[in-house]
Amino acid sequence: MKNEDIKSIKELLATPKNIVIVPHKNPDGDAIGSTLALYHYLSKNKHQAKVIVPNDYPSFLKWIPGNEHILKYDSQTEECEALIQAADIIFTLDFNAFHRTGDMESVLSQSAALKIMIDHHQAPDDYATYMFSDVSMSSTCEMVYHFIDYLGDRSQIDATIATCIYVGIMTDTGSFRFSSTTSKTHQIVADLIDKGANNSQIHNHVYDTNSYERLQLLGQALSNLEIISGYRTAYITLSQDELNRYNYKKGDTEGVVNYALSINNIIFAAIFIEDKKEGIIKISLRSKGDFSVNEFARAHFNGGGHTNAAGGRTELSLEDTVEKFISILPSYNDALNHDETI
Ligand code: 5GP
Ligand code: MN
Repeated sequence: MKNEDIKSIKELLATPKNIVIVPHKNPDGDAIGSTLALYHYLSKNKHQAKVIVPNDYPSFLKWIPGNEHILKYDSQTEECEALIQAADIIFTLDFNAFHRTGDMESVLSQSAALKIMIDHHQAPDDYATYMFSDVSMSSTCEMVYHFIDYLGDRSQIDATIATCIYVGIMTDTGSFRFSSTTSKTHQIVADLIDKGANNSQIHNHVYDTNSYERLQLLGQALSNLEIISGYRTAYITLSQDELNRYNYKKGDTEGVVNYALSINNIIFAAIFIEDKKEGIIKISLRSKGDFSVNEFARAHFNGGGHTNAAGGRTELSLEDTVEKFISILPSYNDALNHDETI
């Protein structure tokens, strides 16, 4: 972040403001962790802060401190719109284009509030007055830590804020194993533990609260897994019928695509999940090495994200989506097969 921006934001936050904090639609651990961390920090500093999420999120995130104060735009629309209208400042976290907030897109783009972006995705739109955008960061949570530090307030990070930040770093780094995890990330995580984040308990809350049905759904996903070894690719499908059979709940498919990527010699993995209500196939893509799933998602599946983790969608059937995916692979032959060291 530029020094002059930090100075301006400091001046801006010197007096109490009405502040709304928004993450992307279908918020994940980084989205909820970062918005709540910022919420606690701003509230501590006498601001009227509110977190508004576009829609619901998985139950394994509903224990995070401050969860009870989160407002949902899709079910509390009027209240949320009044807050957005009255906001002096809107922080947009863990996304960088308004369309990523789904139905909140128009109310956000019409709002006169000053916008501050904190985000680590590629290709940001330029709606924000102050942009803290850094694709090298492991997570938006890591950036919120830096943001508070830049404002000279690292000492204000207490156990509550540390817990929120820890969640997003942990979930976005696959528990500190993705290549986005740096020594700095580990230094920050160490500091968060020193400040009171209970690492083992946080891990249990997020990863060890599975339902029996969620594991049965995972079993179905794994038996649907297909390998295309010539392109070092593996993919999984889940139809709406299969989701219904195992009483699918939001978050149940989180992380499933990583099983496809864990197979020996596979560097590109996809999961295709049918959503009959929205009339779409939701796609998650993961890769190892320099194969950019962000570019792949942008070019073919109306999506985006990071080099090694991206998402997208189609309005085709599940079968046609898979057929399209397979038909594209030959044009990526070189990119998928050039590096035998991974
Ligand atoms: P996931 O596969 O876990 O839903 O998302 C992986 C990454 O890609 C996340 O950083 C997420 O924000 C991004 N992403 C997922 N779906 C989309 C999409 O439809 N459009 C864009 N631009 N990014 C996406
Ligand atoms: Mn993130």
